[in-house]
Amino acid sequence: MMKNSKTGRYQREGKWQIMIHGESYKPIVAEAAKKSADKIYNRIMITHLLIDENNENRVGGAVGFNMRTGDFHIFRSKTVIVAAGGASHIFKPRAVGEGMGRTWYAPWSNGSAYALPIAAGAKMTQMENRIVLCRFKDGYGPVGAYFLHLKTYTQNANGENYEKKWYDHTKQLVGEYIDHHPTPTCLRNHAFVQEVMAGGGPIQMVTKEAFQDPHLETIGWENFLGMTVGQAVVWASQNIDPKYINPELTTSEPYVMGSHATCSGAWVSGPEDLSPPEYYWGYNRMMTIEGLFGAGDTVGGSAHKFSSGSFTEGRLAAKAAVKYIEDQKAINIKVSKKQCENFREIIYKPLENYTVNRNEITGGTVSPSYFSPIQGLQRLQKIMDEYVGGISVNYMTNENLLKKGLELLNWLEEDLENIGAEDYHQLMRAWELKHRAITSQCVTEHTLFREETRWPGYYYRGDHMKLDDDNWHCLTVSRRDPKTGKFNMEKMPVYHIIGDEEKKKAS
Ligand SMILES: Cc1cc2nc3c(=O)[nH]c(=O)nc-3n(C[C@H](O)[C@H](O)[C@H](O)COP(=O)(O)OP(=O)(O)OC[C@H]3O[C@@H](n4cnc5c(N)ncnc54)[C@H](O)[C@@H]3O)c2cc1C
Repeated sequence: MMKNSKTGRYQREGKWQIMIHGESYKPIVAEAAKKSADKIYNRIMITHLLIDENNENRVGGAVGFNMRTGDFHIFRSKTVIVAAGGASHIFKPRAVGEGMGRTWYAPWSNGSAYALPIAAGAKMTQMENRIVLCRFKDGYGPVGAYFLHLKTYTQNANGENYEKKWYDHTKQLVGEYIDHHPTPTCLRNHAFVQEVMAGGGPIQMVTKEAFQDPHLETIGWENFLGMTVGQAVVWASQNIDPKYINPELTTSEPYVMGSHATCSGAWVSGPEDLSPPEYYWGYNRMMTIEGLFGAGDTVGGSAHKFSSGSFTEGRLAAKAAVKYIEDQKAINIKVSKKQCENFREIIYKPLENYTVNRNEITGGTVSPSYFSPIQGLQRLQKIMDEYVGGISVNYMTNENLLKKGLELLNWLEEDLENIGAEDYHQLMRAWELKHRAITSQCVTEHTLFREETRWPGYYYRGDHMKLDDDNWHCLTVSRRDPKTGKFNMEKMPVYHIIGDEEKKKAS
């Protein structure tokens, strides 16, 4: 974290934000974790959770394979903590073709954090609550430090403050939420999207003023060199020096996550001290499956965790998991060899699909009997983009589109039985895709269920364009039946545990 040279205190970017240097700080956290562990298994992709055969709602471990050697790994355990990141690349990205793979959120956020519990029958919450980021164009370079620390601002192609123009329009959709300070991020996005649709683009970040100050100029560049080097490279390749040219911004494809300002993820028990009784089932951060815990992006309903909140949640989950074991809740777990062998067969099937059917074609990648992970990924992203509110439809969807999207996702699920993997790396890609696909089904079911537009600028339900607090000031919760694959949806009440007075004091 950066310290203010005058006050000696942490450098604040805004009321709630302290500037961190992730590139330095994340390895420090990782090292602490490394020192405290008895044994670490690296490069194992976890594909499935094991379930106790004496209690189908209790976890019994996890299985996966080593992505380098291909070895099959069985982890029999009394508890499991899922902390596998969020879900990027489920919607078609802006960066396609030569830029494919460039993404804002982490590329290893392949939806495993959601797919593992969903497949096992755990309840999920707020999976519709995807995020769309305003970022520097083509490199996804972050804008937070620019707005908050460098005090830069945005304008349309004519040099106008376009956000003001869309105030009345936005107020009609969301009422008084537009008057919140600071303006909710989705509503700023909404003005951006509307302005571009009205022909006011490109939208620019005004950097020319701030960059005249050498200190701010250094911070502006370091911000990228520390976490998004690609943005500096994009600017260099396009001859953009932000001291003289105001760089272009864009809105990203949607991402699903539970730690970075969105609250999608597993429905977990709250802490013993603060939770209403019905939201506390004995062990903090435990999902609706006994012994299965989550942390970070995995856990829904607690959006502002970021990195420090995520590792803190990991500690909370670990302590609760230990208590669960000490309380003798994990006795008599049965995981048979048969269950493990069944998963072994399922996990390696893509290798077999490829090896057997590759003989049918003489060259190329198009086969009548299998498809590759990249082909499947592009098919998934196209469905999510066009039917569930991605970039190519300006984040717009409705009931009919969502139902069609679900139909196409179900067919994709069927076809994923025929995915082919030529090596262990492609086997990882195949499983990433399977995890992304089940996550996408859940996202689509949730988006269909919430009949309102709560976050204009993130996505729009064209058939319910207004925010509707009377009916939808609630949490959405889903459960996929592991036997039938059908989702069941329900509403859960939001409790305002911290009142306005406490909020004022805390700030
Ligand atoms: C560009 C960017 C900038 C950010 N800036 C900040 C910032 O300034 N401040 C801040 O506080 N936060 C920031 N964040 C957010 C922060 O990084 C996340 O909130 C945090 O990393 C989430 O922690 P996590 O442990 O849940 O997931 P992650 O840190 O994503 O860890 C998930 C891990 O699970 C692994 N994994 C995934 N699937 C599997 C599987 N099937 N089997 C085994 N392993 C698997 C992944 O490889 C990864 O190592 C930023 C994030 C991004 C992408």
